[in-house]
Amino acid sequence: MRTLVLSDIHANLTALEAVIMDAANFDRVFCLGDVVGYGPDPNECIKFLRTLPQLQVVMGNHDAALSGIIEVGNFNYDAQQALTVQASILAATSMEWLELLDLEKDVAGIHMAHGSPRNPIWEYLSSNFIALENFSAFTQQVCMVGHTHIPSIFELSKPRKIRLLLPEQGDLWRSDNRFILNPGSVGQPRDGNPKAAYVIFDDGDETWQFRRVAYNVPEVQARMRNLGFPIRHIERLERGV
Ligand code: ZN
Repeated sequence: MRTLVLSDIHANLTALEAVIMDAANFDRVFCLGDVVGYGPDPNECIKFLRTLPQLQVVMGNHDAALSGIIEVGNFNYDAQQALTVQASILAATSMEWLELLDLEKDVAGIHMAHGSPRNPIWEYLSSNFIALENFSAFTQQVCMVGHTHIPSIFELSKPRKIRLLLPEQGDLWRSDNRFILNPGSVGQPRDGNPKAAYVIFDDGDETWQFRRVAYNVPEVQARMRNLGFPIRHIERLERGV
């Protein structure tokens, strides 16, 4: 079975459509949160995502903010502005769908959380030390996260030893060790590569392939300008930062 692993779509329908076209053949979809926030198409992304096969989604911090579960005041100024614009265009049906998302999920022997397994909404897995502490917060071999927008793997190579890998386009990963994997961001990559990031997991040979696909960034930026999004969020898409 082939699983399409997505995260941090951030209301960017053009990037999401490019990923679905590029992934071409998959049986189910795992999404690690932040379907909304930052981008111009929150309703369209939710609607499209819900048409995908065997969809499993966990809640991200932006999803939680827009559905009123956490305070917008917890975000930095630019992110708050973007959330305010999104709140003004978010349909009631979208909000209802966001409200019902789970914080964590266990699917097919894999743990799913947006930020980290011990703090799914807020924690960034930004160092080996933080990752090490998180291995005791789930029991499965594999945990998938999003939130940093950087394709990465923290592998527990020995009982207390962490190895960080930063996979690039096309890299194939396989390991019998425990690991925490981040597919990168579909709608707002931050690793210096503006192409949309995703992963294909094949449970036959247990491989995880890191992929990138270019999409029409200027088209998304034009929609953001029309809606009055912060300039910093518009410009960062073309640089992938
Ligand atoms: Zn995010």
